[in-house]
Amino acid sequence: MQIAVSGGKGGTGKSTIAINLAIALRNYFDLTLADLDVEAPNDHILLGIELQNEEPVELFMPRFDYSKCIKCRRCAEVCEEHAIITMRDGTPFLMPTLCSGCGACRIVCPVEGAILEGKKLMGHTYLTETPYGFQLVTGKLLEGEERAMPIVVAAKERAKALNKELLIVDTAAGTSNTVSKALEDSQLIIAVTEPTPLGLHDLELILKLADIMGIEAWVVINRSDLGKKEDVKELARRYNARITAEIPYSENIIKSYVEGRPIVLSDCGEAEIFRKLAEEVVSYLR
Ligand code: SF4
Ligand code: SF4
Repeated sequence: MQIAVSGGKGGTGKSTIAINLAIALRNYFDLTLADLDVEAPNDHILLGIELQNEEPVELFMPRFDYSKCIKCRRCAEVCEEHAIITMRDGTPFLMPTLCSGCGACRIVCPVEGAILEGKKLMGHTYLTETPYGFQLVTGKLLEGEERAMPIVVAAKERAKALNKELLIVDTAAGTSNTVSKALEDSQLIIAVTEPTPLGLHDLELILKLADIMGIEAWVVINRSDLGKKEDVKELARRYNARITAEIPYSENIIKSYVEGRPIVLSDCGEAEIFRKLAEEVVSYLR
């Protein structure tokens, strides 16, 4: 089974919901949490742990053997990313930052061995034991790299390979193709929002995406007392999405960040909200 914690807008507290929900759900399922917000993963920070078991994520990158190249320019012509430029005499040169690793240049090259297999490091995945009885898989894109998809795919595969009863994915903000990839195979999307005009706008995008992908969506309103939550409720109604939790702005939650101790482990009212949300997820999945 797989559920996703997502949200159109960054900074809504998506990761806070993901880690606290994972801790609450560990009492019901053998689970893995996957942080697929690969440009800025922070579940490990909120869990107060250091990332471990690093594995590189590499892509194919062409290397030219100029002793064999006949300067026919076909590699440059086929490259949709315009990552290969040719000199006046047809000698090809690669601009590595533009290369997507598709391999088309190697396929069309008429000379065997003129294009060799090079590797480009895109980022890493990590597998970290948490003190809460589940493992965290994290994808992290290399700084300066723009192509997040290979990291999302690699991290998700690493998490799935653990073969646990439940996979919880924490996606990036927005509705890009990497978010869709992270959401794929989910039975439920928990869309986290806040009752502001921007939060509302981005919530609509994620609810539309859930609708297109045919996935049940629930809405969690974070900092629910800091805006017009009636508007969120109206929007959720339009998309048949249930409001499953309202979390008020809370000093306790801020304190839990500072102390590196997830709020769900305490006895306050906010912790109870997460425990109730977990119970709703359990009844939905079982
Ligand atoms: S691997 Fe693809 S993107 Fe990279 S240079 Fe070759 S054709 Fe272009
Ligand atoms: S397709 Fe092969 S032979 Fe032609 S220019 Fe590119 S590397 Fe050289």
